[in-house]
Amino acid sequence: MLTKVIDQPKIDRFAKWLEDADKIVIVAHVAPDGDAIGSSLGLWHFLDFQGKTANVIVPNAFPDFLKWMPGSKDILCYDRYKDFANRLIAEADIICCLDFNALKRVETMADVIQSAHAKKILVDHHPYPEEFCDITMSYPKVSSTSELIFRLICRMGYFDDITKEGAECIYTGMMTDTGGFTYNSNDREIYFIISELLSKGIDKDDIYRKVYNTYSESRLRLMGYVLSQMRVYPEHHAALISLTKNEQRNFDYIRGDSEGFVNIPLSIKGVVFSCFLREDTEKPMIKISLRSVGAFPCNQLAAEFFNGGGHLNASGGEFYGTMDQARATFEEALKKFAPLLIAKE
Ligand code: 5GP
Ligand code: MN
Repeated sequence: MLTKVIDQPKIDRFAKWLEDADKIVIVAHVAPDGDAIGSSLGLWHFLDFQGKTANVIVPNAFPDFLKWMPGSKDILCYDRYKDFANRLIAEADIICCLDFNALKRVETMADVIQSAHAKKILVDHHPYPEEFCDITMSYPKVSSTSELIFRLICRMGYFDDITKEGAECIYTGMMTDTGGFTYNSNDREIYFIISELLSKGIDKDDIYRKVYNTYSESRLRLMGYVLSQMRVYPEHHAALISLTKNEQRNFDYIRGDSEGFVNIPLSIKGVVFSCFLREDTEKPMIKISLRSVGAFPCNQLAAEFFNGGGHLNASGGEFYGTMDQARATFEEALKKFAPLLIAKE
């Protein structure tokens, strides 16, 4: 049996909305990751099974390694189909905002979502949610939004309406947001849910292969290069990797190629904090990815130095300046946070 994580009145209210609604739009954050896409498609399959007119809209493209997911071909990218997406948003009865805690995380879609007359619900696990929805289901202790979608559907009494395809999407989100169940994954109920998803006929080993073992040769060579340039700060138990636009060109970089790189330095004994600086190809900025193990608060450092936020152990932000300046800012942040940078036993 699962603990009742989501508050009952919120579930009752959403279930009532669904009874009266037909047109539902599901929205996830910019640069959607496995959990953003997994939770969105998990919910979409359920609504589709129930005969609703549902659409998933994301601000921009998502990585190729998620394109095998059932239903992913019907996801609308707002930057490509803005007019159509605007119409769907304006006509929606309900908008479900998944896997983000602030409207600015949907970037160019923020205004249309804010002004849409639809009822709005947030389902998310990032701390400090902003109040921009009528129902806010925010549970930061839960390791993925996909897990919350499973819990939500079950609590409404519809476990039987989760299809194999929906289960595959939910599993993918749970797996990717925990690094294949290697962090944030000690809650035993996760494994109860996996067992329930397996009962739908999903092949979890195959899903792992499709997500993690389908990269290009150039991506592997890029990884080797990035690691060869890594800086380690033993006194701060930290490491830094980076990737400029020039380096991206040298390795035929495509979006998603550096996914997961930030986790690799954490495999060094004694390193508890890793930072990845990547020059963006679209905007004049450097995207920051931060990861930690143990108690080090990546999100505090992201907020203080990189105009960002996120989870305790996984956060991100943005930097406007050169790569050298970004490195200098990171080193300054290391000094400031030194008292908290302690090797894990
Ligand atoms: P990633 O390193 O995978 O891009 O992001 C990890 C996590 O950091 C995301 O799930 C999200 O919670 C947070 N995050 C990433 N970029 C930003 C950002 O620019 N602003 C904020 N507030 N959070 C971010
Ligand atoms: Mn997530």
